[in-house]
Amino acid sequence: MVMVLTVGELEAKVLPRAAVSKIVLVKEEECELKEIWVADTTGKIKLTLWDSLISQVHVSKSYSFSNLTTRGIQGDIILTTTPSTQVMEITALDVPDGDSEDLDDGASSTTLRGLVSGVQIRARYRCLRCHGIQTGISANSITHRCSVCNLLQRSSVYRSTYGGTIVFKADQQDHSLTVTDCCLTAYLVRYGVVYTPNDVETIEEHFLNRPELEVCINNDSLITSINQPPSQNRGDQGEAGETAEDWEVVEAGEAAETFNQDVQQGTLVDEPATVVE
Ligand SMILES: [Zn+2]
Repeated sequence: MVMVLTVGELEAKVLPRAAVSKIVLVKEEECELKEIWVADTTGKIKLTLWDSLISQVHVSKSYSFSNLTTRGIQGDIILTTTPSTQVMEITALDVPDGDSEDLDDGASSTTLRGLVSGVQIRARYRCLRCHGIQTGISANSITHRCSVCNLLQRSSVYRSTYGGTIVFKADQQDHSLTVTDCCLTAYLVRYGVVYTPNDVETIEEHFLNRPELEVCINNDSLITSINQPPSQNRGDQGEAGETAEDWEVVEAGEAAETFNQDVQQGTLVDEPATVVE
């Protein structure tokens, strides 16, 4: 028996537990989903986030989620976002983080360090009014007519979702990796990358121009995070010619704490990529 209930509004905190990211096909469209754990004072529950909502939600922060529905999967009730779900950050709820005992589901990851040798980023746009998927929004046009509800609207109001493939050369091997909207958006924001939302080529070129990157991938070759190795951010010595100085780079303190190997500016490391079990 499958019972679907609509949950008008939920105020909950995102728990720092292992989240699972997946790409699934819905009506022949690639969609990204991420399963997270949320909790309020009464208990915790799994919540599936879809597409562009994924990057709006961060661990340990509290949000109000509207228009969720429930789904029953193998006897468990989980919540899922819908196309009309809105997410708003609220004052932090007084909910403990809990113990992170189950780091098992999909948490095992590998870190690769190397160069992007090929990239294809796709953008999908959704009308906020009718939720219809758009076949394309011209990079140069400031207005766009929804192909479903026929309304002419500003191009900027369509909700965009990115995804694609990155061929990553690390350890003398080419790895074909899937990149999701969530990790791409997080990367673009963290490093202050300047790009045109309706022109994915500006994002593709950014990746091809990077001298070196570090990516974390899960067992399904899905990239869960992209980082710029810290030595490129210091840029205080010698030939900066090889670094992508055209891109505004913000200080990435948290990334800098994780990696302390010394890497020559603009050259590829000759040691094997770090592998985290
Ligand atoms: Zn529409």
